Amino acid sequence: KPEELNDNLQRYFDLVHPDDREGFLQTLQKARERAETCHHIYRLVRPDGTICHVESRGFLLHEEGSKDLRRVGFITDISQRLKAQEDLRESRRLLQTVMDNIPIGVFWKDRHSRYLGCNQRVAEAFGFQSPLEMIGKTDLEFPSLKPEEAEFFLQKDYEVMERNIGEIGIVEPATFADGRRVWLETSKVPMHDHEGQVVGVMGVWQDITEKRQLEEKLRQTLKMEAIGRLAGGVAHDFNNLLTVINGYTDLLLNQTEPHDARHELLTQIRKAGVRASGLTRQLLAFSRKTVLIPTVIDLNELLLDMEKLLYPLLGEQIVLQLKTASPLWPVKVDPTEMSQVIINLCVNARDAMPNGGVLRIETANVELEDIPTTISDTAGRGSYVCLTVADTGVGMDEATKARIFEPFFTTKGPERGTGLGLATVYGIVQQSGGYIEVESEVGRGSTFRVYLPRNLDERRKIKSQFIAQRPTPKGKETVLLVEDEDGVRKLARLILESSGYCVLEAPNGPEALRLTSESSQEIDLLVTDVVMPTMSGPQLAQKILDARPGLRVLYLSGYTDDEVIRHGIAEGESAFLHKPFSPAHLAQKVREVLDS
Ligand code: ADP
Ligand code: MG
Repeated sequence: KPEELNDNLQRYFDLVHPDDREGFLQTLQKARERAETCHHIYRLVRPDGTICHVESRGFLLHEEGSKDLRRVGFITDISQRLKAQEDLRESRRLLQTVMDNIPIGVFWKDRHSRYLGCNQRVAEAFGFQSPLEMIGKTDLEFPSLKPEEAEFFLQKDYEVMERNIGEIGIVEPATFADGRRVWLETSKVPMHDHEGQVVGVMGVWQDITEKRQLEEKLRQTLKMEAIGRLAGGVAHDFNNLLTVINGYTDLLLNQTEPHDARHELLTQIRKAGVRASGLTRQLLAFSRKTVLIPTVIDLNELLLDMEKLLYPLLGEQIVLQLKTASPLWPVKVDPTEMSQVIINLCVNARDAMPNGGVLRIETANVELEDIPTTISDTAGRGSYVCLTVADTGVGMDEATKARIFEPFFTTKGPERGTGLGLATVYGIVQQSGGYIEVESEVGRGSTFRVYLPRNLDERRKIKSQFIAQRPTPKGKETVLLVEDEDGVRKLARLILESSGYCVLEAPNGPEALRLTSESSQEIDLLVTDVVMPTMSGPQLAQKILDARPGLRVLYLSGYTDDEVIRHGIAEGESAFLHKPFSPAHLAQKVREVLDS
């Protein structure tokens, strides 16, 4: 009875949270007036100050044998339930945030492969505004997907549902709504109801297109490396042989009179030998084993220096447009090698324009954000000098373009092409710290761009590369000759002795050291191979220099490890002679070093 309850009610009322008291009274009032069941949620403050949410339900009961109504109430503590609801909402929000922000597609489908839901990533990829639009559809109804792509998706869905086993790492081709053809790596698992029956499939996918492209690029680079190592090794041995063949041929040529029948035969051998050494030299350049002598130059000057040479090379049907940016940043390259790069690119352009056309050579300063090259293994950013060689010739298809930098790849037939031109260009550019890029379409010409890193050192004047032959100089100095290859050593000795020098020879470093320590004879020049088994040329030179500081050094090599160049010989500072060398070259270089 209300009167009886009043005191109790008052005590209870005091526990009601102050903000909820008004509502409490209103509900109480309503219940009394209308004599009906009521339901109300409010807060109570416990004596310890903590708050608890309660739900109260009031009923009216007829008391047995009386007409009086009795009010009965249940009060339930629903704090736990509310907390659980809030937690659930929170975790749904979290899941949604994650799903909408990961770069991964998430989807789930019913037993018939119809979408039940997905995240925003999936909707966007297939051109829908929101995941809701996709519900009920199958992949076959996505406008951008090709039928065979969609069928492959579905086939995998069914496989997973039928076998009731998840599958990971399925690689699926797909076409996105923006037209991009991509590779998706997908994992799918069956979904079950509480009885364990398969009711659908759930999956995630990731766009791995870029990763695959990078892998492809890496494979390409590794292949080039392997070919390079092989080519370098072969060329190294060839160099020694060619030095001997060509050298002795030269000596014999000097000993035969021009009207002698043997003179013509020797000339033929000599011609073949020169051609062969040209080839080995290109192979070495490709395998990045040539000894570069980098100099800081203005590429424009090199181009202008070469211009005269290019006209006869290109012939009359081709118009040469030379456009140089000025001032052009300096670059540090080997000028001889760089002219080889330009010549090779121009010769290819000429071959691509048998009926004439326009060859455009341009230089420019560029700031690169990201190297946009198709073949570079490492992307870099910074300041570069860009050399463009563009033709209006036949162009290339994709399959050709993918292989042009491989040595011996040619489309010109064995008579006309060696397939070494671009391989050489590639090697030289890489070794100079640069990048090369090619753009071409069949029938629309080709554009090669070489990016060389800007150099901040002061510029040195380049000497013209095309020096005329001079008569062989002679001398009387003493030369210590160290070379492990017997043939080459004997030849060099013969050349030097016939030029008047006094020659001491040793087949290796230790032997050479023994010679110098035992003899008190003055030695003016050390001529040594770079790569030798027990002691390298530079190591030997250092040892002898310690005892005989005035000594001059000339290195012979066609093949040098990057290591040796970096540690043994200061860039551009030491005298160097490439193998294979001709007798005249050796004699000239020896004189040059002695006189410097
Ligand atoms: P080669 O010139 O001896 O064939 P390269 O290494 O210089 O060898 O070139 C390889 C191949 O690349 C050529 O056979 C040709 O198919 C293609 N190529 C190179 N430059 C061009 C160009 N400017 N236009 C069209 N195709 C080219
Ligand atoms: Mg070529």
